[in-house]
Amino acid sequence: MEWETVIGLEIHAQLATKSKIFSCASTAVGAQPNSQASAIDLGLPGVLPVLNERVVEMAVLFGLAIRAKVAPSSVFARKNYFYPDLPKGYQISQYAEPIVSAGKLEIRLADGTIRIIDVTRAHLEEDAGKSTHEGFAHSTGIDLNRAGTPLLEIVSEPQMHSAEEAVAYMRTMHRLVRYLGICDGNMQEGSFRCDANVSVRKSGSTQLGTRTEIKNLNSFKFIERAIEHEVERQIEIIENGAKVVQETRLYDPDLDETRTMRSKEDAHDYRYFPDPDLLPIRISEEYLASMARLLPELPDRKRQRFVAHYRLSEQDADLLCEETAWADYFEQTVEISKADPRFSARWITGELFAALNRANLSIENSPLSSTSLGKLIARIDDETISGKIAKQVFDRMWETGESPDEIINLQGLRQVTDDSVIERLVIQVLENNPQQIEQYKSGKDKVFGFFVGQVMKLSEGKANPSQVNQLLKAQLDKAP
Ligand code: ADP
Ligand code: MG
Repeated sequence: MEWETVIGLEIHAQLATKSKIFSCASTAVGAQPNSQASAIDLGLPGVLPVLNERVVEMAVLFGLAIRAKVAPSSVFARKNYFYPDLPKGYQISQYAEPIVSAGKLEIRLADGTIRIIDVTRAHLEEDAGKSTHEGFAHSTGIDLNRAGTPLLEIVSEPQMHSAEEAVAYMRTMHRLVRYLGICDGNMQEGSFRCDANVSVRKSGSTQLGTRTEIKNLNSFKFIERAIEHEVERQIEIIENGAKVVQETRLYDPDLDETRTMRSKEDAHDYRYFPDPDLLPIRISEEYLASMARLLPELPDRKRQRFVAHYRLSEQDADLLCEETAWADYFEQTVEISKADPRFSARWITGELFAALNRANLSIENSPLSSTSLGKLIARIDDETISGKIAKQVFDRMWETGESPDEIINLQGLRQVTDDSVIERLVIQVLENNPQQIEQYKSGKDKVFGFFVGQVMKLSEGKANPSQVNQLLKAQLDKAP
């Protein structure tokens, strides 16, 4: 490995508030253009921004969750630049004194390796509006509905060394902000997106190479592809004796390539200065303590507990902890079923997830509640029905909403466990298949499976399989 990749990510997480960061206009998406832009968002003269208290709570929760330093005093600054979708001529952001700094995020790679990535800072800022070209000939439409939407910009140290690590970091952060309830994580709508800063250097070198910044990546797949392409491009440039130019690039998913967008500004180009319209954010020890009490169980802790307490595999625990709603559903199912938790995990990640997928439903809208699934699993566990019949019951529950007991009783699906009944079925099958008995006796062990299948079929799937096995063996031993 001659070249080492270096990646630092800047993530923009849209904070899930009802109103904007400095005005009371709604943040809901999908409204008529400019119907949700107040005088403050339009940057009309004479208006003053008022800070939304919720965004401070959210930033502090985030800071606590990544074990960061939450500043007792942080300051909003004006980042000056001209753009048609930025009517004030500046973006309100934080610069020298961000609210959160020096945090840590633990990421797990596919091979199980754990890495701690340092988070440089996380600061509050407002989003800009949008330029639209659709439906306009020789002109551009400006929609300021998004202007003033609160963002938390999360900046990492340049410590990731592969696209895989960058994606793992992004996924871990994505799960964290959703656990904290501070961002809906909707990447398609751009609520969670990132800029990837990428450079390469000779392996063993400690100096950073010249980086490029790939803007606005809003899917894990795009991040991975964009980084891989960019690394290849930079290595080729250097190996051809040229120099990488520091610039902002754009990833085009259709062409699957990155291309130049603009040369990179330096911080001093923005003429940052503290915003005189806003007071510093002051955070007391008591406030921090009260926020700490609001922290939910975090994803890593939950995953570890699922492995230790429920004895789930790492993969199942990881999958179920992806969404709090999934984890909660699992725990409720286990409690109702009273059976081995791994059994519930298998049903949820198998049958339930497949059914939800087919119906394109989230677990919150599942026609099958955790209570119903728990009761179904209890009926398998107490051997009222077999696992196979349970799938049939599951489908019926999904369609009709009936309880498992109703379905089992009405359709007569109860498992047959009476030895004498099963024995009768076994004898009948053997009588009907003398040839197969001969084959079995002459050493063709595989025929045993055929007999089991026949008995199960005769019982309409209801015979207890282990009893069938036992009684078949006994009868076959007796046969001449
Ligand atoms: P800005 O992009 O606003 O100028 P910074 O210079 O602080 O801000 O860097 C932003 C991001 O770029 C950070 O995540 C940082 O880790 C990353 N970064 C900085 N230098 C490099 C580099 N040479 N290679 C890769 N990433 C880098
Ligand atoms: Mg940047």
